[in-house]
Amino acid sequence: MIIDSHAHYNNGAYKKPFRYLSHDQDGYTLREGDREQLFRELQDANIPYSIEPGVSLQSCGEVLELAAQYPGRIFPAIGVHPTRSIFETWSDRHKLDAYAKTPGVIAIGEIGLDYHYKREEQHRLTQYLWFLYQLDLAWKRKKPVILHVRDAHEDVLRILRWHPARKLGGVVHCFYGSKEIAEQYLKLGYHIGIGGSVLQLEERAQELWEAIPHIPLERILLETDAPFILPYCKDVIQPKLLRRARNTSLILPAVIRKIAELKGISADEVEQATTENTIRLFHLPVLEDNP
Ligand SMILES: [Zn+2]
Repeated sequence: MIIDSHAHYNNGAYKKPFRYLSHDQDGYTLREGDREQLFRELQDANIPYSIEPGVSLQSCGEVLELAAQYPGRIFPAIGVHPTRSIFETWSDRHKLDAYAKTPGVIAIGEIGLDYHYKREEQHRLTQYLWFLYQLDLAWKRKKPVILHVRDAHEDVLRILRWHPARKLGGVVHCFYGSKEIAEQYLKLGYHIGIGGSVLQLEERAQELWEAIPHIPLERILLETDAPFILPYCKDVIQPKLLRRARNTSLILPAVIRKIAELKGISADEVEQATTENTIRLFHLPVLEDNP
């Protein structure tokens, strides 16, 4: 059984029928369908669960609705993404407290800092304020966090080192960085989320490939960040067709095989350990022998 620890099936990209990426014995394929069909296919592929993080106050409400619509399939997390925080009104932050109290919420996320785009100093301050507020919330509700960190590892690590929420752990989602950076998060007790970034061409994935043998298996979670981060597959699928294609949790067997290859262990070991890690970190109420 495989769990996707980070997917956005609430995203508008899945609201009407769509083209999506799948992966079977013969490699990548494209299919057309709707979210219902995709979820059935995921169940058949033994990928019956996913964690759905919020990215804005509005999306947190939608994430909870989706989780109510698919109980036991979608596990909701509540949070405001750093690049979205600048569009929120600071006095609305208390809405997060109410959302976080909803039964079934398993984490606070995705939260963090993102310096990828050139930003005014004020924007960074806004990101800090929301990040700190949400770390406090995680500590208050005793939930782990789902971290989004882009070009801001130094600042995030500095904050996590003194914040008590560190004791509750969490995952650095869509990790992309060196083994040195991974080691610093590992030292603080965090898990590392690995997804489609590991299935890119060598020039893009090299640093991550080098880091993975140094990340203990019991600290790795699988994720896709679907509908984003398509793996490289232009060699088998026409780029024109890929342009509007959505990523899905169906690619996770390919992620597992790549991690197994990099670590020199079997795919079964990777699948079993990452599933156990996800259940343990987020206290997911699932049976490990499902379905
Ligand atoms: Zn995400």
